[in-house]
Amino acid sequence: MNHYDAIVIGSGAGGGVMAYRLSEMGLRVLVAERGRHEDPTSFTHDELAMIPRLYKHGGLQTTADNDVAIMQGCTVGGSTVINNAIWLRANLARVLPAWNAAGANLDRTEIEAAYHQLEQLLHVTPIAPYDPANPANESSSGAKTFLDGAAALGMKAQMLKHNRKGCIGCGWCNYGCRYNRKLSMLVTTIPWAQQLGATVLDSCQNLTIRWKKEGDGKLRAEGIEFTRHGKPQAATADRVVVSAGAIGSSALLLQSGIAANGQVGKRFHALGGVLVAAQMPYIANNFDGIGLTTLLDDNNPEIVIESFFAPPGAFSITLPGWFATHIERMEQYRYFAQAGVMVPTPPNGSITLDKKGNVKINLKFTNDRISLMKQGIRTLAELYFAAGAVAVFPGTFRHLDLYHPNDFARLDRLVQGADDLILGSAHPQGGNNISRDPAAGVVDESFCVHGFRNLFVADASLFPTNIAANCQATVMALSWMAAKRVAQA
Ligand SMILES: Cc1cc2nc3c(=O)[nH]c(=O)nc-3n(C[C@H](O)[C@H](O)[C@H](O)COP(=O)(O)OP(=O)(O)OC[C@H]3O[C@@H](n4cnc5c(N)ncnc54)[C@H](O)[C@@H]3O)c2cc1C
Ligand code: SF4
Repeated sequence: MNHYDAIVIGSGAGGGVMAYRLSEMGLRVLVAERGRHEDPTSFTHDELAMIPRLYKHGGLQTTADNDVAIMQGCTVGGSTVINNAIWLRANLARVLPAWNAAGANLDRTEIEAAYHQLEQLLHVTPIAPYDPANPANESSSGAKTFLDGAAALGMKAQMLKHNRKGCIGCGWCNYGCRYNRKLSMLVTTIPWAQQLGATVLDSCQNLTIRWKKEGDGKLRAEGIEFTRHGKPQAATADRVVVSAGAIGSSALLLQSGIAANGQVGKRFHALGGVLVAAQMPYIANNFDGIGLTTLLDDNNPEIVIESFFAPPGAFSITLPGWFATHIERMEQYRYFAQAGVMVPTPPNGSITLDKKGNVKINLKFTNDRISLMKQGIRTLAELYFAAGAVAVFPGTFRHLDLYHPNDFARLDRLVQGADDLILGSAHPQGGNNISRDPAAGVVDESFCVHGFRNLFVADASLFPTNIAANCQATVMALSWMAAKRVAQA
């Protein structure tokens, strides 16, 4: 059986950075990933082909009540392979006091240094504003529509930063970048770790962590067991790092019989919401360019509004209207702009296993969250009308077509709860939260699971409370910090 200095389970934002950092520090690393190791040049612009290849559960992961679709990657590189490459630091002045109150006292200077180092490595730069006259234009026209609408209302909006280099603006980031312009873990930290000697095993199924109790009562992770291409396999290590992502990491710990005083899977939360399409009076061709480019700087940190645009299949799922109405609207695809309204949930969801061992995601967007979402939809509709939209269609199940600000009363009448909105999240968080108190968290402030000597967590499941921002930068920064502690264990 092979022995390693460290095993990293999962190869996304957390696992990719961890594998690279540990390899750089001279450790012999094994990365064990459930998804396949894909060749990016084989990615196609075919949604139906790419979703089952790259998305967890073929893109069909939902909360236990089926109200919220939760998107995550399942491939070497994890969700970074399918994400929008937006690099947004968390507002630490707001987030760290909340984390501290939850028992996680992290050093702001150290997090900022980690952001900075990663920004250099991953070529983080501002997305260039929409400029069709520039042959190197990468943004879609929706960036301009969004900024124009915000300016007309006297609201502040900004172009976001991203980890891309030489992007040709094809707009297919959510299905993997076949041009290697998105600097996901698949094309950066994972191959860098391999060059430094790390072994990457893809397709590791039914993985569990082996552990034992030592004489002094402390627990020690010994290694992992899994099946690969139908064959049982195992590996041992001096340290094990769980980076299977929010949901996946809690599920894996529970499946391995690790409950950490019953805390594993508790305090799960997500940033999620609804997409809103705006029909413009001109051909906008928003599919032509990066879709997620701009953010509304609103005073309410609980409402995150970002421009977005999806290829036709994904667009059609969130475009309201049934049968002929839906077809007529899809025929106008080239006229649409689109943006998302997201709100954070409090850390009161959970990840559990049912009697058969199936993973259950318990998460609700309660009515106070829906009220915030309605406020955000209204702001966004106002923005689009100010930019000249002729109609605004929020992602609802019932007909809620807005043609004028006077129609907003219908929003309150027709959207009463989570069942009325087409809800989704690409930012699940928590479930293995950091807290120095073993009765209130899964890992301590050095990212080690309470009670263990050498079992660590490094991914989005660590977040004690919602960061109310796109997560990858903060996941990577925490993993960067955790690596130092892991190497010292
Ligand atoms: C469509 C989409 C768009 C997004 N856009 C952005 C964006 O623009 N900017 C941003 O900041 N964030 C974005 N995000 C979110 C961001 O990508 C994630 O927050 C981040 O990747 C989370 O990192 P992670 O390490 O926690 O998990 P992941 O990156 O999801 O990695 C977890 C890995 O663990 C593997 N795994 C799970 N269970 C097991 C197991 N039992 N055994 C072995 N391996 C396992 C998974 O297959 C996966 O590869 C987006 C997410 C999605 C889905
Ligand atoms: S928009 Fe840019 S980063 Fe995204 S898939 Fe196309 S070339 Fe790659």
